[in-house]
Amino acid sequence: MKSNNKTMIQYFEWYLPNNCNLWQKLIKKAPELKKLGITSIWLPPACKCAGGINDTGYGVYDLYDLGEFNQKGTVRTKYGTKDEYIAAIRALQLEGIQVLADIVLNHRMGADEKQDIISYKINPDNRNEVIGDLRHISAWTKYNFEGRHNKYSDFKLDWSHFTSIDYDDNAKETGIFRFYGKHFSDEVDKELGNYDYLMGCDVDFNNLDTVDDLNSWGKWFLTQTNVDGFRLDAVKHIRSSFYKRWLSRLKNTFNKDLFTVGEYFSTNVDSLINYLDYNDQVDSLFDVPLHDHFKIASESSGYYDMRQIFEDTLVDRRPSKTVTFVDNHDTEPGQSLESWIKDWFRPLAYSMIMLREKGIPCIFYGDYYGVPDKNIPSMKEFLDILLLARKNLAYGKQRDYIDDPDIIGWTREGDYYHQDSGLAVILSDGKGGCKQMNVGKNLANTVLYDCTGNIKETVYVDEDGNGIFYVNGGSVSVWIKKDNMYNL
Ligand code: CA
Ligand code: CA
Repeated sequence: MKSNNKTMIQYFEWYLPNNCNLWQKLIKKAPELKKLGITSIWLPPACKCAGGINDTGYGVYDLYDLGEFNQKGTVRTKYGTKDEYIAAIRALQLEGIQVLADIVLNHRMGADEKQDIISYKINPDNRNEVIGDLRHISAWTKYNFEGRHNKYSDFKLDWSHFTSIDYDDNAKETGIFRFYGKHFSDEVDKELGNYDYLMGCDVDFNNLDTVDDLNSWGKWFLTQTNVDGFRLDAVKHIRSSFYKRWLSRLKNTFNKDLFTVGEYFSTNVDSLINYLDYNDQVDSLFDVPLHDHFKIASESSGYYDMRQIFEDTLVDRRPSKTVTFVDNHDTEPGQSLESWIKDWFRPLAYSMIMLREKGIPCIFYGDYYGVPDKNIPSMKEFLDILLLARKNLAYGKQRDYIDDPDIIGWTREGDYYHQDSGLAVILSDGKGGCKQMNVGKNLANTVLYDCTGNIKETVYVDEDGNGIFYVNGGSVSVWIKKDNMYNL
């Protein structure tokens, strides 16, 4: 049966201007994204945040305000109004594109009032260790949502719904302050002893009222938006049984699959696998180990051993549960997880996520359109070629030639359902060169050309499917059938 490759796009980057009208832009762009083979889209968080129109979406203030109420100095969010958000979701779904909402439940920011709370100060490098005596702190922990006038929910938050905060307004002191009687969950990443605390007011997932409210909110959000799934923010900082139950409940209530990709930002593949094995409701995680390999290779001036690029990555160990990516809004220059892959390596990295058999690749908005604020150029021309090659040609059996410290490659032999499909990819982190590879019978006795334009000569594939393919130094070439119907 004919089935097409899946391709995701992350449709925002950190430095979008506050008048970017992203939801409106999406309504216009939906048909174009469909043509490029985009099958799912990750939209930025739509909730009202502490930073009002300047907030990228992760400083969540009110989950029930999707750009509808005058709170934090604005009705709309950075990306537009609630009506525009819902219209954008509809426009994308009409094109058959699956819409994933970014859900941020780990923390809250921008409280309306302070409270006096008895707290312990915690060692930031070992969160299991208390430093000093119990003390009174003044903390911004009361959320009244007055601008919403109890519409959709009359639930309010105060210190009892959180475990901890990062600021004592009495002493004007930053740190991690855990509230008396509260404890961090054991079901979180063990980095820094216990990585429950990330930022802002850390939501207490042991509190039953909190969990009830989040269950109600999930139903409300799905009813309002009808999204197809979620990108879950910061899952390594959230009690893992929470999402297991939350997702299972929603799927049952709505009788929907709700495809889910979690952000577990760790380069340790075993941590990712443990999470997936425990939380069977989460369909996939982003392949942070592969991103890390890309970064190291991009900074090694050719001395990276390319035979190791996929070793101990999630796409290698749990291929059916992997979303691969090159960079995202957090890894951009100046951001919290800055680990930007150097320019010369980015085409190689994109080839490695988009033209191989395993994993769902996620293209980053900042690569597709560029990031003017950081002088990051648009890769649209190159990515459009890869997108169409993925959509039309990257099918069939894969043969790997990952056998050299510099020059690696693989071929896809094509399938019956995609005319002229099949391709050969060769890339080098060092010097240029060539490699004999077999592309299978479908492309036997044909002439192939490099659709990236990096190499002008053609390659003849013999009657057994063997060809000698070329690549320039620090570059990639993607060889496809000449004069095929797709005209990339
Ligand atoms: Ca947490
Ligand atoms: Ca090398």
